[in-house]
Amino acid sequence: MSMKKSVRKAVIAGNWKMNKNRKEAKALIDELKPLVADAKCDVVICVPYTNLETALSLTENTNIKVGAENCHWAESGAFTGEISAPMLSEMGVEYVIIGHSERRQYFGETDITVNKRVRAALNAGLKVILCVGELLEQREQGITEEIVSMQTKIDLAGVNAEELKNIIIAYEPVWAIGTGKTATSDQADEVNGYIRSVVAKLYGEAAAEALTIQYGGSMNAKNADELLTKVHVDGGLIGGASLKAPDFAAIVSAASK
Ligand code: PEP
Repeated sequence: MSMKKSVRKAVIAGNWKMNKNRKEAKALIDELKPLVADAKCDVVICVPYTNLETALSLTENTNIKVGAENCHWAESGAFTGEISAPMLSEMGVEYVIIGHSERRQYFGETDITVNKRVRAALNAGLKVILCVGELLEQREQGITEEIVSMQTKIDLAGVNAEELKNIIIAYEPVWAIGTGKTATSDQADEVNGYIRSVVAKLYGEAAAEALTIQYGGSMNAKNADELLTKVHVDGGLIGGASLKAPDFAAIVSAASK
């Protein structure tokens, strides 16, 4: 596969997880807005449901896009406590994270339910940040490629080539999330490239070349530059460092070079 990174737009997305009350969210977004106003990459903040309205209104007429951190697979119904994809798109939310390792680890998420959520999100017109990645034990067993290949195939089942344009894949080695142990830039590039080859087999080379594949896992203001120079690393999904405006903005700057 040729190496045309320039065909892809870098996307830096923050994942706030279960952090920030409304007042804190407002303060963070107000601080962030001027810092990322000149970004040459796409900038997304994925926030708790309770902050979506705040984030949408504060980012109106800015270059910051808003995402949710999950959605249910049904359009509506008896699913107490859940939020559907059409509910998100109707309020103006543009992105949704699906299949984050914390959902898989703590909330029984499987590739089957991830796939259902992906399809529901696409049907509702949302852009999906689909997370895949191996556990430490799996890396040590030498099955990283098998794991991310299986996740990619199952999670994208029933997604057609046109719909793939609304998908970003985030490669997030689970051992690197929230641990301060970043993958080396070579490790990130290698797995991102492998995921791209899996997508090429499913959708063809052109679709795979156009796909944005992020790296996520303790990406920060210091290591972003090095990671983002890699040909298959088209941006980042940022947890901890997205909670501080200067740190997140530094990563956005690194992706804007
Ligand atoms: C994440 O939650 O997707 C993530 C990468 O977290 P952190 O940057 O804190 O490792």
